[in-house]
Amino acid sequence: MNSVFELFKIGIGPSSSHTVGPMRIACMFVKEAYESGELQKCDHIKVELFGSLGATGRGHSSDKATVLGLMGNVPENVDMIEAKKRLKDVIEHKKINLLEIKRVNFDFEKDLVLNGSKFLDFHPNAMSLYMYDENEELLIEKTYYSIGGGAVVSEDDINSENNKQKVDLPYNFKNADELLEKCRKNSLHVSTLMLENEKVFRSEDEVRKGLLEIWRVMQECVKKGCETTGELPVLGVKRRANKIYNKLHEKDGFAMIDPLEVMDWINLWALAVNEQNACGQKIVTAPTNGAAGIIPSVMHYMNKFLGSTFKEYDEDKIINFLLTAGAIGLLYQNNASISGADVGCQGEVGVACSMAAGALAEAMGGTIEQVENAAEIAMEHSLGLTCDPIGGLVQIPCIERNAVASVRAVNSARMALNGDGSHYVSLDSVIKTMFETGKDMMSKYKETSKGGLAVNIVAC
Ligand code: SF4
Repeated sequence: MNSVFELFKIGIGPSSSHTVGPMRIACMFVKEAYESGELQKCDHIKVELFGSLGATGRGHSSDKATVLGLMGNVPENVDMIEAKKRLKDVIEHKKINLLEIKRVNFDFEKDLVLNGSKFLDFHPNAMSLYMYDENEELLIEKTYYSIGGGAVVSEDDINSENNKQKVDLPYNFKNADELLEKCRKNSLHVSTLMLENEKVFRSEDEVRKGLLEIWRVMQECVKKGCETTGELPVLGVKRRANKIYNKLHEKDGFAMIDPLEVMDWINLWALAVNEQNACGQKIVTAPTNGAAGIIPSVMHYMNKFLGSTFKEYDEDKIINFLLTAGAIGLLYQNNASISGADVGCQGEVGVACSMAAGALAEAMGGTIEQVENAAEIAMEHSLGLTCDPIGGLVQIPCIERNAVASVRAVNSARMALNGDGSHYVSLDSVIKTMFETGKDMMSKYKETSKGGLAVNIVAC
């Protein structure tokens, strides 16, 4: 992974690895089958979800996302109202329109198997898909992995030599030490270094437009989350963002009496995003859906509360924030993991907190050492966070956890800015520690809903 656009993706809730990933995999599978001519011969299709995908697939809507993907939908532009109608048709008639061009047999109850007790070696989020002809002869079988944040790889990708070729970047970095060294040597901020790297994949204009679009969707999500009332699906938990939003506005907007009221705003923006995510709405993975509230919340904090220092909605500030956050996210993605099923919630909420803290430190004028320190502080105090969503739903503890982590990100940035950048624990050490802690964590605490809150507070 080399581009921030592999971390910030527009998709749908509630989960990047369990909803966005399976939809992308299913769509990829049928497209590949179409290109190889197998889809045209297909009469029956089956899908098996393994490990964490199997264990929490119903709560995360992995099953429905898979069906939509088989019909050719992609998370970026799926029309959820239309999709629900088509889903109903598939379940009722036990037939599915692959890519909307080939109608084949598919019994939603029997042909989509959730196998939560079997884990494949490469990653806990695995999925195999099978196509059969009219004689029930296997035409094609493929296995894919949803490796976090909506990113997917196939078994073929893993073994392919093409994928092992390195992209030639102007400022290639493997770890935080190298990133810092290249920034120092070339007198660059993390964001400006990252922009030069991004220009290998697309023009500067496209990078800027793409990141502003990401920010637009984040803002839209916050707005809708603040406006919407009602309950979250299945658990019936009441949405909180709207109530807090109204309460804060009654107090004359941003003219605060209690200085800590800023925390209420930070909480609000994160809650708004994660409530939207829980309801399967449009979301930006940042770097995952479960942790999608932290970066937008901290960006809203930057815009609203640092307005005397920075012009509100300053495009450069927004773009640089996302570039710096992205650079930090890539360090985690490339050296550890951003998947709750792989390393627990420290890899989702912890990583988002670290990305936001580092980016905020840069936005507030921090040196590269302070940026690294902020990102490190945020992760150091997220180490060990388990993933135990009640009912396999990205609601409890996820929504509130995003709010708490957003405040922690701001605190981490401010702490780093009050120092001179020198610190004892390096960002590389904390990334390594997070990964090792995640690997040592028992599987019941890694998005299987078999431990922690998920078993002590049983979903209704
Ligand atoms: S607990 Fe954390 S990692 Fe697990 S689903 Fe919730 S946000 Fe994602």
